[in-house]
Amino acid sequence: MEQEAHSVVFEPSGRGKAQCPPNPNFPKGVKVDVSDGLIACTKELPYPAPECGAWIVRCAACGMSVAVTAAGRPDDPVNVTMPCKLGREANQITK
Ligand SMILES: [Zn+2]
Ligand SMILES: [Zn+2]
Repeated sequence: MEQEAHSVVFEPSGRGKAQCPPNPNFPKGVKVDVSDGLIACTKELPYPAPECGAWIVRCAACGMSVAVTAAGRPDDPVNVTMPCKLGREANQITK
């Protein structure tokens, strides 16, 4: 198994728990794709988030980083597909 190049850090917004109800259309979370058609990796995120804030995903291999907002609700992101030179899981992405 290749070593995991992507790190995930949660940065709380300071607002605490979400005040609004979750989007009922996404009871099992959402898949975030910011790859814009580029070679990409998909990174699983801890789900749901502990509170309002953002997951900061960084790739040690190519230096790419993205921020994915979350709110500690059922409609939080479950994974993020981000541009990455490694393209490790590009073949698994179905669009
Ligand atoms: Zn990658
Ligand atoms: Zn990368």
